[in-house]
Amino acid sequence: MLRIGMMTETISRFTGMKGALKVIKDLGFDCADITIQKTGENRKLTNYFSGKDYKKKAQELKEYADKIKLPLVQAHAPFPSYLDGKPRYNKLAWKKLLKSIEICGILKIKHLVIHPWNDHTNEENIKFYKKVLPYAKKANVVVCVENMWRWNKEKEQAKPCSCSFSDTFNAIVDGVNSKYVKACVDIGHAEMFAHMKYSARKMLEEMNERVVCLHIHDNDKIHDKHWIPFRGSINYKDVVKGLKKINYKGDLVAEILADPEIDTFEKGLAYWKENYRAMRKIQSMMK
Ligand SMILES: [Zn+2]
Repeated sequence: MLRIGMMTETISRFTGMKGALKVIKDLGFDCADITIQKTGENRKLTNYFSGKDYKKKAQELKEYADKIKLPLVQAHAPFPSYLDGKPRYNKLAWKKLLKSIEICGILKIKHLVIHPWNDHTNEENIKFYKKVLPYAKKANVVVCVENMWRWNKEKEQAKPCSCSFSDTFNAIVDGVNSKYVKACVDIGHAEMFAHMKYSARKMLEEMNERVVCLHIHDNDKIHDKHWIPFRGSINYKDVVKGLKKINYKGDLVAEILADPEIDTFEKGLAYWKENYRAMRKIQSMMK
């Protein structure tokens, strides 16, 4: 059976990083995804890794995860990876990306998701991931490109950017052509293009063996909601058909964000339990 996991992000804001791992374990998940950056605070690493002693902290975290028998399988790097016309930010972002790869190496995390440069050509993105490649090899970490979107304010719908569809996504992964650069399909992002008759299933089937990890969540097929699966409009029966068709053997990782109503740990716990049940359901659908 495929393992199910969730990210530390929504939990760690109440518990800190180690506490989040404990909660993920106690909820019953099989594995965890480490959020190296705080969501919504694009210029900061999560407090846990922000200091100069990050290597020591990563080592401690690895020992703790081993102790509670929770495999760390995936991580999310800081983003955006690049901003046009912001050389200072880009210099810093590059340093943080390399630091994230190093952290994953220490944590023995296999898959690190690094966002592409959204508005850049395939060639520019290939160049970017090729630049990352030696560091990924050194740390023995597979860097995963993620499908993204831009927002059309007038039409109130997603508009395509780099990797929104399998053509650019495949071109980048194939252009780098290394076992250290593969794909993370974000199910929710793909489904935001329903207005263009696109779907996560289509993306999965067109990308096939390039897909090594997933971001699983739900939405209204318009906005990027990051809801718990089955709360929105995404047809997970269809997604599972796509996963089975490509013989997906990776982990099933939820990328849910905290509901704004969740302001206490207790409220969070009920929410994460629902997430756990939803992910077990997807896991059983994969049998
Ligand atoms: Zn994602």
